[in-house]
Amino acid sequence: MKHGFADKVLAWFDVFGRHDLPWQKSLTPYPVWISEIMLQQTQVQTVIPYFNRFIARFPSINALAQADLDEVLSLWTGLGYYARARNLHKTARIISEFHQGEFPRSQQDLQQLPGIGRSTAGAISAICFHERVAILDGNVKRVISRAFAIGGWPGQRATAEQLWAQAEAVLPYERINAYTQAMMDLGATVCVGKAPLCDLCPVSDACQALEHQKISDYPGKKPKVSKPTRRTIMLVVKTRAGEIRLAQRPPEGIWGGLYSFPELNQEELDALAPQLPSPPRALETLKHSFTHFHLLIEPMLVEIEAIEDIPRIHHEAWLSEDNSEAFGLCRPAQKIIQTLLG
Ligand code: SF4
Repeated sequence: MKHGFADKVLAWFDVFGRHDLPWQKSLTPYPVWISEIMLQQTQVQTVIPYFNRFIARFPSINALAQADLDEVLSLWTGLGYYARARNLHKTARIISEFHQGEFPRSQQDLQQLPGIGRSTAGAISAICFHERVAILDGNVKRVISRAFAIGGWPGQRATAEQLWAQAEAVLPYERINAYTQAMMDLGATVCVGKAPLCDLCPVSDACQALEHQKISDYPGKKPKVSKPTRRTIMLVVKTRAGEIRLAQRPPEGIWGGLYSFPELNQEELDALAPQLPSPPRALETLKHSFTHFHLLIEPMLVEIEAIEDIPRIHHEAWLSEDNSEAFGLCRPAQKIIQTLLG
């Protein structure tokens, strides 16, 4: 299949590929980069409205570079993995300041920028600058590992190297930009995770996983490790007028720079309770999973008459009806606020 692979994928793309996604309007690096970063952990349909809002507010790399990080995070609220938004902002500033607002044109150089890994760098340089390089996002990994029966978990170095080598070995010499988009589309719409649509696949006649009826073995699964569970209490203060107290988190670490609620443990809450204007009331517990642990969040609500009834805390802000769009909120804070505001 080696020599025919790219031709088949390209012929399929011309008929069945996606050609009208918002970031395909102009294949220039800025929108392609924003879309690639948004798509890293998120489905296309979810990304589209976020992408449109983001580009409307920051139409160029210089506009993004000049923005406040708070506003960038606020437009990112709901997409999760906020390090991506912080890195976008950092990279915009680097390109604006040190590259006269022009993106580097090779995968190698793009990869030096914050938040741009080898695959994202490859997508930008192949789509926008026609550099003949491979990409290996989640969708493409699935296609390559199945079509060429490359086992093992792609998070392992040896497997990743094999996948990269195979992805590079089948690159076409022409139309690299279309091929790059085609591979992403093939993985997203045909060679999907569960129940791929092999009948519609342009490379099914030579797909090794299909031939051996072993599709579910590819790509290899991540070895299971059980994650520990941690517990925290979030103190939620709400006034009679409906204002809700937030606290901005430190710039680095979990939910860096986002707004959340002050966190404490049970002992701290017990010590604080007598000083509060009303007894804290438990709201529904939430579970939030991170890469390395689960977090059980027990929100405790304190209702007060007015903002002055509670001592100030560091980095506090009050969310109200008038400014509810202004804060980049972590996901649990969003959920708690939704519950409170009904
Ligand atoms: S034949 Fe099926 S498993 Fe193989 S690449 Fe195509 S869709 Fe994926």
